[in-house]
Amino acid sequence: MRILIDMDDVLADAVERFFEWYERDFGIRYTKADIPGKHFYQIVPDEHKQLVRSYPHQKGFFKDLPVIQDAKETVEVLSRMHELYIVSAAMEFKYSFTDKYEWLDEHFPFIHWKQRIFCGNKHLVKGDVLIDDHDFNLSVFPGRPIVFTAPHNIHYKEYERMNTWLEAKNFFEGMP
Ligand SMILES: [Mg+2]
Repeated sequence: MRILIDMDDVLADAVERFFEWYERDFGIRYTKADIPGKHFYQIVPDEHKQLVRSYPHQKGFFKDLPVIQDAKETVEVLSRMHELYIVSAAMEFKYSFTDKYEWLDEHFPFIHWKQRIFCGNKHLVKGDVLIDDHDFNLSVFPGRPIVFTAPHNIHYKEYERMNTWLEAKNFFEGMP
């Protein structure tokens, strides 16, 4: 099976970086429990929205992001049993490439460069399963789209869902 896996908010905890930088700039620390069903920029004061939305376009946003719990162990197991690709729409953030590449080298060294796809529109990448946190990627995927739970997608109803990487491990182990 060819499994495609997104990076941000699936393997790498980008939401935490928003909280971290917002605390740096405004002295208030949010948590995921504060933003159910929302993107972070949607809950900050109007005068902060533009700055918050610019964070991922700034140098260093993607550097040393925390790894989502159990992602490394599960992806390593899956990579031995399946044809696995990391698919990140990195083109949106021009400073992200090196940080993302080095992040994979550090935390997912078993993912060969040939399995790393930094792209624009993901619908050009074909596979059997896509694990992603965004509707705009899942809705155009021609295979089996699976939403990985993040604060902004808890209301998605139209996809199979994985809340954790342990659930993902059980999901693939239970497949015929
Ligand atoms: Mg993502």
